[in-house]
Amino acid sequence: MNAIPVIPTRGTIVFPNTIGTLDIGRKSSLIALEKATKGNQLCLVQQKDPTIEYPQQEDLYEVGVLVEIRQVVKIPGGYARVMAEGTKRVKIANFLHFEPYIAAEVTELALEMPENEDLSVLRRAVNDAFAHYIALENQVPLNEAITLPEIDATEQMADILGSHLDLAVEKKQDLIEAIILKERLSTLLLILQEEIAVLELEQHVQQQVKARMEGAQREYYLREQMSVIQEELGESGSYDSDEFKYHKKFDEIDLNSETRERIEQELERLAKIPQGSPERVVIENYLDWCLALPWNTEDDSFVGIAEAEKILDEDHYGLTKVKERILEYIAVLQLTDRIKGPILCLVGPPGVGKTSLARSIAKALGRQFISSSLGGVRDESEIRGHRRTYIGAMPGRIIQALKRVKTRNPLFLFDEIDKMSSDFRGDPASAMLEVLDPEQNKIFIDHYLDIPFDLSKIVFLTTANTTQNIPRPLFDRMEIIHISGYTEDEKVQIGIRYLVPKQIEQHGLKKAQFSINEAAIRIIINQYTREAGVRSLERVLASLCRKVARIIVSGERKSATITERTIYKYLGNPIYHHDMLNDDQTVGVATALAWTEFGGETMTVEAVLAKGKGKLQLTGNLGEVMQESAKAALSYLRSFESVPQDFNECDIHIHVPQGAIPKDGPSAGITIATALYSALTNKPVLPQVAFTGEITLNGRVLPIGGLKEKLLAARRAGIKTVIIPAANSTDLSEVPVEIRDALDIKLVDHIKQVFAAAFKEDEHED
Ligand code: ADP
Repeated sequence: MNAIPVIPTRGTIVFPNTIGTLDIGRKSSLIALEKATKGNQLCLVQQKDPTIEYPQQEDLYEVGVLVEIRQVVKIPGGYARVMAEGTKRVKIANFLHFEPYIAAEVTELALEMPENEDLSVLRRAVNDAFAHYIALENQVPLNEAITLPEIDATEQMADILGSHLDLAVEKKQDLIEAIILKERLSTLLLILQEEIAVLELEQHVQQQVKARMEGAQREYYLREQMSVIQEELGESGSYDSDEFKYHKKFDEIDLNSETRERIEQELERLAKIPQGSPERVVIENYLDWCLALPWNTEDDSFVGIAEAEKILDEDHYGLTKVKERILEYIAVLQLTDRIKGPILCLVGPPGVGKTSLARSIAKALGRQFISSSLGGVRDESEIRGHRRTYIGAMPGRIIQALKRVKTRNPLFLFDEIDKMSSDFRGDPASAMLEVLDPEQNKIFIDHYLDIPFDLSKIVFLTTANTTQNIPRPLFDRMEIIHISGYTEDEKVQIGIRYLVPKQIEQHGLKKAQFSINEAAIRIIINQYTREAGVRSLERVLASLCRKVARIIVSGERKSATITERTIYKYLGNPIYHHDMLNDDQTVGVATALAWTEFGGETMTVEAVLAKGKGKLQLTGNLGEVMQESAKAALSYLRSFESVPQDFNECDIHIHVPQGAIPKDGPSAGITIATALYSALTNKPVLPQVAFTGEITLNGRVLPIGGLKEKLLAARRAGIKTVIIPAANSTDLSEVPVEIRDALDIKLVDHIKQVFAAAFKEDEHED
């Protein structure tokens, strides 16, 4: 046995009966090559792990291939490229040394072919598999290298295939080590079957891809090709036309078949209209709208309930119950994906944070925010768009907004849903119904688009000042969340914590440059604003920031601190005074607590008597209900109270100032009765007393609504005593404690109790 140089290989092997090349770079291998060129005998053995740099005996397989070197070429980098022909399989009998190169004694492994063994079935299977393999992999040069009639070469096929296939190290080694014919054939069969399975899978995937490419994509590619061909030919013809460009753009959008069909129709029309025709512009406009709409784009990065709660708290003071309800709503939204339930409607006076709550909800849901005010909308087409037959037709607000935000699932706030009205131009409420109703809005059809657009992914919210004027069918689908006005203390907190920092930032000031103390904020609240919300407060703070900005920019001072002493310097004379209400105790004047959509308000009711014949005159833009209250109050007094005046000898005039503002509602009943009684008895009502309650003909006092708002208003106006129906006592729990404590609240069932409380005790005669 000769000592043969050995080169360890990493994954390449030259099979017997084949010619292969391998690059050699390791120093020991290069020495082995040099030795081998002399004797022209070299043994190639695979490494078990290709990553090992200096393999030892245990790192090498025992069986390798003896090769004859045909050619050696030096390549840059100190490598040698060797072309060699495999001759026989050998087993390494003994490694002689590993340094400076590997050398070993080897013994030849001849193919064992037992005479009496019938391998015809196995051979056929191998041949069939091979034929199948070639059919699938028709690019392999093997196709030419081996032709099937050479079936006798099955034994060698293992070697030829092994060298052609891109097999793993272990599999190649299996083929080399298989020296019993049957074993070699089985190994080959196994490898072929595996390769066939892989090829079949590949083919399947390709078919699938191809199938998907069909339809829109296929058209897209064809058009692309067509335009490339056109370009190559230097032609600019119909394929360079607008229709063609539109076609290409629409192919890139995933549209449903109905929409696509409709757009195809438009494209066909466009093709028929000559360039420059005004009608073309109309169609192109339409197509541009369709292109710009977010048919499939969605946003969603819900931050989680805990984070949502944080966002609501960060942006809003108090409002605990409202926030809780909103979080429940957000939670359900996450679970259901689509909003089947009622639409949320935030109801409350202006400036209580309805819009800004909606904005925070959008932030928590990770959606875009759009708001659109419905105040004064009378035309249905504002919502549903104009038909394209009109010149200058446009889609409605919803479609317009969707184009702007570029996603189809924003949060959409409809402000002032109670301010819609209807006239001959259609009923916007019924259009809104279609928009908001989850059953219908999946296929909302804007008149301009004239194709259904799915609005069901939009989160709709609405706001209103009062529920009274919300169109009934809409109201039925809404879940109302009431937000009432803020108390003075709440306003102070909102001012200090939220509005002041916000205004400082918005006016480009630094914290150190602007400060305002609590007392000054209270003065703003009481003397410069009279509102349920905090909108005017914010406005006044903004004007202070502007003034301070001016002072700083002009170099007059570096910063400004606003206190109860300096505030008047900035804002001028106060607008409201605490003592504006009947402090002077005029006869025939009483203060009513009213509820309006701007929150609660105080309202003066005046009554005077003049010589006459018992006529009743009512002025001050009073609604029907209020007029009836006045008549009921008068009838009660006529029948049940003894007064010095003879009703038949005087005319009575009742007036509620601010005549330009319409007033209505039953709750002024006891106030009117009190003003009348005061006029009839010539006794003034006690100062700082206000009333609310409905009156019946026999003097009973009936409950009223909006108690919390009314008491907040009383407090704002500096009222000390309020007289309210006893039946409203349960509503008192909703009134903030600080308000209840600050007011002397008198509960009454009967008008006699009202009079007892309204006039000085000793002077009141029954
Ligand atoms: P609405 O929509 O009810 O008329 P807005 O949402 O426009 O009222 O609110 C007016 C301003 O008052 C906004 O700047 C808002 O951030 C602020 N605001 C209202 N309520 C609160 C509150 N509870 N906490 C902090 N800021 C508030």
